[in-house]
Amino acid sequence: MENIILTGDRPTGRLHIGHYVGSLKQRVLLQNEGNYKDFFILIADTQALTDNAGNPQKVRDNIVEVMLDYLAVGLDPKKVTFCLQSEIRALSELTMYYMNLVTLPRVLRNPTVKSEVKMRGFDDNEEGVPVGFATYPISQAADITAFKSNLIPVGDDQEPMIEQTREIVRSFNRIYNTDCLVECKSFLPENNVCMRLPGTDNAKMSKSLDNCIYLSDEDDVIKKKVNSIASFPRALEEPGILENNIAFIYLDAFVTDEHFKKYYPEFNNLDELKSSYQKGGIGDGTIKKFLCNVMIDTITPIREKRKELSKNVEEILRVLEDGTRKANTVADQTLKEVKEAMGINYDDTFKKEQIEKYN
Ligand code: ATP
Ligand code: MG
Repeated sequence: MENIILTGDRPTGRLHIGHYVGSLKQRVLLQNEGNYKDFFILIADTQALTDNAGNPQKVRDNIVEVMLDYLAVGLDPKKVTFCLQSEIRALSELTMYYMNLVTLPRVLRNPTVKSEVKMRGFDDNEEGVPVGFATYPISQAADITAFKSNLIPVGDDQEPMIEQTREIVRSFNRIYNTDCLVECKSFLPENNVCMRLPGTDNAKMSKSLDNCIYLSDEDDVIKKKVNSIASFPRALEEPGILENNIAFIYLDAFVTDEHFKKYYPEFNNLDELKSSYQKGGIGDGTIKKFLCNVMIDTITPIREKRKELSKNVEEILRVLEDGTRKANTVADQTLKEVKEAMGINYDDTFKKEQIEKYN
């Protein structure tokens, strides 16, 4: 089967290094391999509203920001279709039909939703969780199935959403005796630390928490953020601890042997540095200085390309508009098949059937 790839991001802020290693890098890899029939990237503004209903301006303001990040990391509009969720009406309609195939306890059992509810404080505020937020995995299933996608490059927090989607696909195809919906699987990063990169404060790096290093951050901001990473207090000669060591987790995700040649020639690679650090004698200040160089090396070309791209927003908006048009054609076709399978296509056959029945 030829792959149809779908992935996306909520326009709740600029994209950060967690997105980069968790999903964006995989997308560029897949794009350049070219082994797919279609590749959709969805800016999930409808989903962003599920926990930002009171602040639509934030969502509106971040659509172009996210597009700039996409193009700056090397995603190419000639190879990828960029589209905007709220402009694809079929997605909302599919969501409505899928809602009937999922129970409330099943939705509330989703571990990612559970932890996000906690993170956003919905569980300890009187108003509770917005229904739209609790059920967003169902709308995500609509996004995935509308494009008949089978391959989803995401971080591992999205695994429960992919599972929920598969369940909906199986239920739908079984109940309505059809094969019109396609089962999907996730495409996770190979490197474990990239699946859920922690923020500078050790919680998951997330736009909604203030713990991100952004792909658009200037050098001095990167330095400040790297220096703010907590380290375990110890005397210099004491052994360094690698477990839960954010600086080393970032090195794991970003450092190359080239970086060692350039900035830390005493070591050839990360394994050598790690074993020496564990023996003692290397201070956390030294590690952070090295990490700063690595992060600045990684982010600078992206940030500079982003600045260049921001001079031509008109073209970027055109790309998004064209992509959304194409996405609508595909999603409308799926919706048509879904309605046919459910028998809620009120076409000429329906009219004839009803007239005959009452004759
Ligand atoms: P929000 O706080 O608004 O939910 P977010 O930072 O979690 O934003 P999303 O738009 O929810 O970002 O996630 C988009 C994609 O990026 C998903 O595939 C997700 O798995 C991946 N991703 C997000 N944060 C990380 C992270 N810290 N590490 C690895 N992948 C991540
Ligand atoms: Mg998220």
